Parts: sequence; structure tokens; C-alpha cells
Amino acid sequence: MATNENRTALVTGASRGIGASIAERLAADGFNVIVNYAGSEAAAHQIVEKIEAAGDKAIATQADVSDAVAVKRMFDSAETAFGGIDILVNNAGILKLAPIADSDDALFDTQVAINFKGTFNLLREAANRLRDGGAIVNLSTSVVGLKLETYGVYAATKAAVETMTGIMAKELRGRSITVNTVAPGPTATQLFLDGKPQEVVDRMSKMSPLERLGTPQDIANVVAFLAGPDAAWVNGQTLRANGGVI
Ligand code: NAP
Repeated sequence: MATNENRTALVTGASRGIGASIAERLAADGFNVIVNYAGSEAAAHQIVEKIEAAGDKAIATQADVSDAVAVKRMFDSAETAFGGIDILVNNAGILKLAPIADSDDALFDTQVAINFKGTFNLLREAANRLRDGGAIVNLSTSVVGLKLETYGVYAATKAAVETMTGIMAKELRGRSITVNTVAPGPTATQLFLDGKPQEVVDRMSKMSPLERLGTPQDIANVVAFLAGPDAAWVNGQTLRANGGVI
């Protein structure tokens, strides 16, 4: 797609799941893509190979999003590789479930560090370095609205992301950069499926009136819309993509 040529998208947590689908979709839409990962090096390189095999451009870059110094280094290497960044997708995230009464400090600290501080680290860097005319898409969750038991800390970190989205959209006044959030419902990835008994997966699959789980591609389609020219007038919004669970 000619309109996205010579434009670059950085997707955090793109070694698998929703992030990998977003990276593949944005590459197909013409963006050069930075495939970020924290530990899954081989998987990230496989995504890059898949993108290159389709004739598009990508590089894999390691950075733990909770580490502000590593995030700065990632922006440096992205700028060296492609000249600048136009699109940031803040997708990296973790999910640890427990009732608040049983949540230990580690459960709280790791989710705050990756989901909240990690997103903040990328937003701060992007605010200073994204090229004018770009777009930022953050990942939240429909659980912010559903308020399901055991999701307390996780949902709170994502509520923080939604709040920063609206504020940063205003702070970037004059730069023609949009800042939006996609809030998926249950989506068939490792993050959602790991550790859940099949009966819980089956029950949650039926929550949507469409009676299925979301797919990573369902979410990548919405992110691609918000990252592309068709969403130029959408700014500061949270778009729930969940098949109608809320
Ligand atoms: P996933 O399959 O577990 O993938 C998570 C990705 O994030 C992996 O590529 C992982 O790479 C990366 N990651 C984790 N910690 C990181 C860190 N500190 N720094 C950099 N990368 C890191 O998860 P997913 O389901 O695709 O979730 C993607 C996003 O969607 C998350 O923000 C999640 O909260 C949100 N979401 C998911 C669902 C759902 O039902 N799946 C619903 C609502 C919202 P490494 O292995 O290299 O760490």
C-alpha cells in the first residue's frame, strides 16, 4: 500500500499472539516493522522471516519494556535501521490472575512494571521521538469494563493505559499524531489460554453473542485501522473489540 511506504511501525511484544499478528498485518500494509520481544528471540526472528518471505521489511529488537534504558536503545536502533518511527503499538503485556485478597507483591509489581510502566516508558520515548503525522495504539482489555473477579490488578494497569491515552492525545497537540487504545475481549493466545481449565475457556468463549473467542487477527485488523489513514479523525479513544461481551 503506497501510503505507508517508508513509514515505520514499532510493535512491542510481537514475538507471538496479538503482537505477532499486528506486526504481520502492518508489514502487509506497507510499514517497515520493528518486532520487539523480551525473551522469545527465536520466535521473534521467525516472525521477521515470515514478513521478509512475503516481500516486506522487518527487524527483531530485544528490549524489556519495563526497562527505560533498553526502550531508549530500541528507539535508537529502530531509527538507525529505518530513519525514524511513525507508528507505536504498545502491545507487550502480561496477565496474572488472583483475587485481590490473595495477590502477592510480585503479582502486583510485575504487572505494574510491564503493563503500566512499560507502556509509560514507550509513550514517553514516542512523545519525544515519533515523527509528526504518526499514530500510537495502546492495548488495554475489555475487563476494564467487565470487572471480572481475579482480574483486579491486571485491569487496573490497563485502566491506567486508557487514562494516559486520552491525556497524551491532547499533549501531542499540533503534531498530527493520534493516540488511541484497543481493548480486546478474550482472545485465543497463550496469555489467555495458559493455566485455564477447558471448561473456563469454553464458558468464556460463549460470553460474546458471536459465541467464539477473538483471534489475534481480529485485533490486528482494528489496530491496523487505527494506525492507518482511515482513522485520521479518531483520537484519544478506547475502542473495545470483543464480539459484544460489553
Ligand atoms: P501473549 O501471547 O502472552 O504475548 C505477549 C507478548 O508480549 C510476547 O511477545 C512477549 O514476548 C511479550 N512480552 C511480555 N513481557 C514483555 C516485556 N517485559 N517486554 C517486551 N515484551 C514482552 O499475549 P497476547 O494475548 O498476545 O497479549 C497482547 C496484549 O493484548 C497484552 O497487552 C494483553 O494484555 C492484551 N490483551 C490480551 C487479551 C487476550 O485475551 N489474549 C485480552 C485483552 C487484552 P517474550 O516472550 O519475548 O517476553
